[in-house]
Amino acid sequence: MIDPLPQLPPSRLSRATNGDGDKEIWKPSWNCFCCQDTGRIQTNLIRLVIPKYDYNRDRIPVCQRLKCYEGSKLMHLKDNLDMRLTAAICGELDRISREDWNNTVSQKFFNIQELAKKKSMPNQIYRRTENDEREVQLRKQQAQFELDNPQACRQEDIDLEDI
Ligand SMILES: [Zn+2]
Repeated sequence: MIDPLPQLPPSRLSRATNGDGDKEIWKPSWNCFCCQDTGRIQTNLIRLVIPKYDYNRDRIPVCQRLKCYEGSKLMHLKDNLDMRLTAAICGELDRISREDWNNTVSQKFFNIQELAKKKSMPNQIYRRTENDEREVQLRKQQAQFELDNPQACRQEDIDLEDI
C-alpha cells in the first residue's frame, strides 16, 4: 500500500513590508543578482553583454562574480559553458540587476500608496453615480407624468428637490 501524500504548510517567499505591516511586497531573497544563485547568468543580463544571445542555442554564460560560487555547480557541463563573462562583468551585472530590483520594489510601494489614495474615491464616484441615476429616474417620471397629465402639469410644478 502506498503512503498518502504528506501535507505541507505553504513555503512562503521572503517579503518586505513597507512599514504598515499589512501591505507586503515580494523581494528577491537570492544573494547573487547576476545568476539568482543558479550559477547561470540571467538571460536579460547576458543580453547586455551578448545582445544576440540565444538561450536554446548558445553556451551557458557562467556567473563568475566574486563571492558567488554557484557557477561551480555547472562545471560538469564543461564544453557547454561560456566563461567569457569575467568577475568584473558579473559584478556589474549584479549591480545593474540590484538597482533594477530596488526600482521595481520602490515603484510597487509607490503604486500601493497611489492605490491607497484612490481607495477613498470609488465611494464618492459611486454616490455621485447613484444620485445621477436617481435624477434620471425622476426626470423620466416627470416626463411621463407630463405626457399622462398635460393639464395638471401646467398648474403644479413638480419640484425635484422635494421628491
Ligand atoms: Zn552568481
